[in-house]
Amino acid sequence: MTNPKIIDGKAFAENLRARLARQVAALRAEHGLVPGLAAVLVGNDPASEVYVRSKARAMRAAGMNSFEYRLAARTDEAALLDLVQRLNGDPAVHGILVQLPLPKQIREAAVIDALDPAKDVDGFHVVNAGRLSTGGQGMIPCTPLGCLMLLKDRLGDRDGGLAGMRAIVLGRSNIVGKPMAQLLIRESCTVTVAHSKTRDLAAECRRAEIVVAAVGKPEMVKGDWIGEGAVVIDVGINRIPAPTAENPGRTRLVGDVAFAEALPRASAITPVPGGIGPMTIACLLANTLTAACRQRGVTLRD
Ligand code: NDP
Repeated sequence: MTNPKIIDGKAFAENLRARLARQVAALRAEHGLVPGLAAVLVGNDPASEVYVRSKARAMRAAGMNSFEYRLAARTDEAALLDLVQRLNGDPAVHGILVQLPLPKQIREAAVIDALDPAKDVDGFHVVNAGRLSTGGQGMIPCTPLGCLMLLKDRLGDRDGGLAGMRAIVLGRSNIVGKPMAQLLIRESCTVTVAHSKTRDLAAECRRAEIVVAAVGKPEMVKGDWIGEGAVVIDVGINRIPAPTAENPGRTRLVGDVAFAEALPRASAITPVPGGIGPMTIACLLANTLTAACRQRGVTLRD
């Protein structure tokens, strides 16, 4: 039997995707609306190719349209901006995803700035970041949104939900740490944001009832950093060597948290893989559906 403390992000994401597929079918039947995502890939970075392919597959499995644009690695910024403008104006495209990283001749910030904020399903545009921090209705970055869903699922039945809980976010990137902190503030948590200059990270962490780790350092968060009964969300995806006699080149994925050490102290913890990773794609689907409904002024049924 699986340990009930382990948060099964994969199962949660599968349920979410099934619900989204039902909503997409209803939207098509009642409003003739099929949400569409345009994914733009510049160059042929193998990891990016895998991401774009799996996102497209997930879109189609949920009954949505997926449009893929593959541009050569030598594409210049003006050509990419041109494509973004065309997609901004295309009524069949409700979400635009420009896969990062981009080749060095293209400024990521210029491309993100060019997106129509209403179609920015990654939630990276400054308008969406601003809306998140000022309490407006924008697009929320997928990974932090997935973390929040799992936290609410675990803590929603607690008296007051997440309100008043002490939370720490390890990492302050624009795509994970900062929006995660904003979401937790929105839930009325008391939030500490830690980073590479934080003094005595272990002590800061130990005080927290919610720990979200997004530093990109394999198993950096040790078991004794986790306060008794804390809920631990591990965003990190790190590939480390795990050689065997038969396979000296073997690798495996680990998170930012030393899982085996943290498990006995935590009241709940996400594994890596199978925790936040699957939630990120499911939330991309959710954001595309939300974007389509908002653009057409349709209210979604549950
Ligand atoms: P970034 O590298 O952009 O940011 C890392 C953050 O961690 C920075 O704020 C940095 O601090 C902080 N940090 C680094 N080292 C330390 C340290 N020793 N002590 C304290 N803080 C530290 O990473 P991302 O936010 O993009 O990603 C974080 C992790 O999450 C990665 O493993 C990534 O692969 C994973 N990820 C997973 C996703 C998923 O779907 N599950 C999606 C996105 C990311 P400073 O600002 O001071 O430099």
